[in-house]
Amino acid sequence: MTHARRRCNLILTLLLLAGFTFTSWFSFYMAHNSLSEGIVDDALPLTSHLISTDLQKQLQAPIYVAQSMAQNHFIHLWLNDSDASDDQLFIFLDKTKQLFQSQTSFLVDHKTLTYYHYDGRTHKLDLNSQETLWYQQAIAPSHRDYLLNVDVTPQDNFTAIVYVNHKIVLNDELLGVAGVGIQLYDLQTLINQYQAQYHRKVYFSDHQGRLLFYNQSLLPNRTLKSEFDSHHSAIAKQENYKFSVKQNGVQRLINSRYIPELGWHLLVEQEFTTQTTLTDALIANLLLGVVITLCILAIAQLTFNQYQSRLEAIALTDKLCNVLNRQAFEPQLQKHIYRAKLGRVPLSLLLLDIDHFKQVNDQHGHLVGDRVLKHFAQLCQSVAHNSDIICRWGGEEFMILMPNSYLNHAQQLSEKLREKLAACKCEVAITISVGVAQYQPQESEDEFIKRADDALYRAKNQGRDRVELAA
Ligand code: GH3
Ligand code: MG
Ligand code: MG
Repeated sequence: MTHARRRCNLILTLLLLAGFTFTSWFSFYMAHNSLSEGIVDDALPLTSHLISTDLQKQLQAPIYVAQSMAQNHFIHLWLNDSDASDDQLFIFLDKTKQLFQSQTSFLVDHKTLTYYHYDGRTHKLDLNSQETLWYQQAIAPSHRDYLLNVDVTPQDNFTAIVYVNHKIVLNDELLGVAGVGIQLYDLQTLINQYQAQYHRKVYFSDHQGRLLFYNQSLLPNRTLKSEFDSHHSAIAKQENYKFSVKQNGVQRLINSRYIPELGWHLLVEQEFTTQTTLTDALIANLLLGVVITLCILAIAQLTFNQYQSRLEAIALTDKLCNVLNRQAFEPQLQKHIYRAKLGRVPLSLLLLDIDHFKQVNDQHGHLVGDRVLKHFAQLCQSVAHNSDIICRWGGEEFMILMPNSYLNHAQQLSEKLREKLAACKCEVAITISVGVAQYQPQESEDEFIKRADDALYRAKNQGRDRVELAA
């Protein structure tokens, strides 16, 4: 394979492979992006909407119960009557708890800062203590009258509970806080159901930015800030916020949605690993690219070969006479001289020249001259052996190289040609003069030709239409 052809093959291969790799990678990238956009823009918001609607329904009941307690006429009377019996309040709280089947029910008298537990226990709230932070948050001025808070308290046996803390306000005066608590375990079951149903992680961020149900944890031991530092303020401020974080090589797509009824943000999360189906498609594309590249290369080789042999044929054949030209003949001559030298086998050369050919042209015209040349070449082909090599040496001169042939064989062939020409009823009758030489050991190519040429010269000088043998 030539250097130019090898370079052409290399460039073709590189171009095809680069093209296939680029298009495969590009379509992979686009598919990857549209998949990720589909999750962030459609799938996660839809899931979050469905869950929040369902959750609102589920949590509406405890909120409603806390609201009824806070607006209850008996509670208002009881709080305003300093002599009222505690027993009646405990009965009320207990009945409320039983009726609603909540985990707990309670009331705080703001005047005395006494916490009344449904089971008859009471304790004083110390507003300087961290433990009463929930109370201070519940009574703080806010657009909502209640606050949901997840807490673990001794009065409820340290069970994680969602408390609905509802302000009791009468004639713009804060009388206290009342509410119920539902076990967080029930809510966790609900969350688990959502996670199983939607195949996504579901958790909340509460009014303090604490993460609830995060990583299956019942207790809020992680915060928005600790988990999503750069996004935590955007999550807290915006009703709907979508973002993604990359941790340990895994991309997490997250949608946050504020649920006003709960005062919490619902977060729905999906991990976005490089989809195996996409990777498979990429590999299949690349393999297909390699196969197509190989096919194209194979086709290119076949085409190259075809063109090359055609070009070679054109370059090495005499167009008019359809025999080898001088360019093609010379390497053959060198090859056979080499063989003759090595193997000491005979090799003979005929140098043939048409007599007075100029007159043929002059009398009959060039076209006829061409036909005569063509006919003579055909005659040579018909008379020569298969192993003989015929060449148009130039103009009206021809050479026949006869491997494995002695001088007398070459002479016989020359005579045969002369006889055929004499017997031919051709358009124009012609004769030839022939110089014949047999290769002599240690002779150079030029010397060999020169001897045949000298013999031809002699033939011409001695009257033409004859065969002369070289010395
Ligand atoms: P001689 O017997 O001494 O060989 O005489 P000649 O006329 O054959 O030799 P000369 O060298 O004087 O002329 C050769 C002529 O052959 C001259 C040229 O016009 C003609 N010739 C060479 N090539 C072609 C060709 O391709 N077609 C035609 N029609 N004529 C050609
Ligand atoms: Mg001549
Ligand atoms: Mg001539």
